[in-house]
Amino acid sequence: MKITIVGAGVAGMTCAVELAERGVAVDVYEQATGFGPHSCSWFAGGMLSPWCEHEHSAELIAKFGEQSIAWWCRQVPDVTRQGSLLVAHGRHASELIGFSRRTTRYEWLDAAAISALEPALADRFQRGLFFKDEAHLDPRTALQALAERLMALGGRIHFGAACAEQSKGDHLVIDCTGWAARDQLHSLRGVKGEMLILRSKELTLSRPVRLLDPRIPAYIVPRPGGIFMVGATMIESDDASRITARAMLELLSAACSLHPAFAEAEVLEIGTQVRPAFPDNMPRILWRRDRIYINGFYRHGFLLAPAFARMAADAILLGQRCAQVEYENHA
Ligand SMILES: Cc1cc2nc3c(=O)[nH]c(=O)nc-3n(C[C@H](O)[C@H](O)[C@H](O)COP(=O)(O)OP(=O)(O)OC[C@H]3O[C@@H](n4cnc5c(N)ncnc54)[C@H](O)[C@@H]3O)c2cc1C
Repeated sequence: MKITIVGAGVAGMTCAVELAERGVAVDVYEQATGFGPHSCSWFAGGMLSPWCEHEHSAELIAKFGEQSIAWWCRQVPDVTRQGSLLVAHGRHASELIGFSRRTTRYEWLDAAAISALEPALADRFQRGLFFKDEAHLDPRTALQALAERLMALGGRIHFGAACAEQSKGDHLVIDCTGWAARDQLHSLRGVKGEMLILRSKELTLSRPVRLLDPRIPAYIVPRPGGIFMVGATMIESDDASRITARAMLELLSAACSLHPAFAEAEVLEIGTQVRPAFPDNMPRILWRRDRIYINGFYRHGFLLAPAFARMAADAILLGQRCAQVEYENHA
């Protein structure tokens, strides 16, 4: 069997590695000349937060997300498994209670426990929720690590190469082109996300921190070298051309509200991209005559792509052609 994967975002790369691990000959075609800002994956926070995300998503997200964390830990070296933290300022403390009712697998922290976990936040928050089993990674280094893993397994990746091939005989084409597949997948919609990359010499955080604020909910994900990803807006729009002044203001306000030292941080990067999403915000594996589509990862590409890669590989290797792979069976 030979597999061609079109698109080297997180959906394409996880699928490529999963199939190559099972002994399949895999070629990935990516139209851009490398990993970069043409893809939604480039701008992700890299949070692997199955239980936090359960707050506004289906139960399955938590199950698939847990499986995906284990996959990432096996496949790439730099997954940080230090949990994630949720905090709220005193006037919004009730938000924490509401959040705790909609999620699982957390423990309550008081001010002393928060400062023990994140000394930079000492004396800033009275209560928080700690999701100790969650993880995070840097999406950019993770994509590169997957490319290296794929090549070590004998797979190939062709940058700067579009691919017009169609499935034929035992040659299957898997389309993982994200938002670019909207003309073929008519129910796909775009959800714009805006984010910032800051650098602060003063602050150290060890894990993603979410600030619960009814007006400006935001999160900060630490990366090596004093770098912080601040995200992210969720706007029903497929216009990823520019960040709005409001989004910039809100993201910076949220960062400074988490810690005033962010006011002195350097703004290294401003990013906007369109998340590909189906109406129920769940990804799909769609088996069509000429190709298989794996798409619709919405705000969960890093959290869910490994679990969907596993399901797709199971279906392909068992020859189970179906309109939509029944992912409930794999939960
Ligand atoms: C601001 C922001 C923050 C986010 N944070 C998180 C997070 O913390 N955790 C999480 O799990 N998810 C997060 N997400 C969601 C995640 O980024 C997406 O779900 C995921 O990146 C979608 O991946 P994809 O591979 O489907 O699409 P993409 O990453 O867009 O990849 C598609 C690739 O296909 C290529 N392509 C398109 N057409 C062709 C063609 N004809 N031939 C060859 N190549 C082609 C494109 O160039 C691109 O590289 C975030 C998203 C945003 C915008």
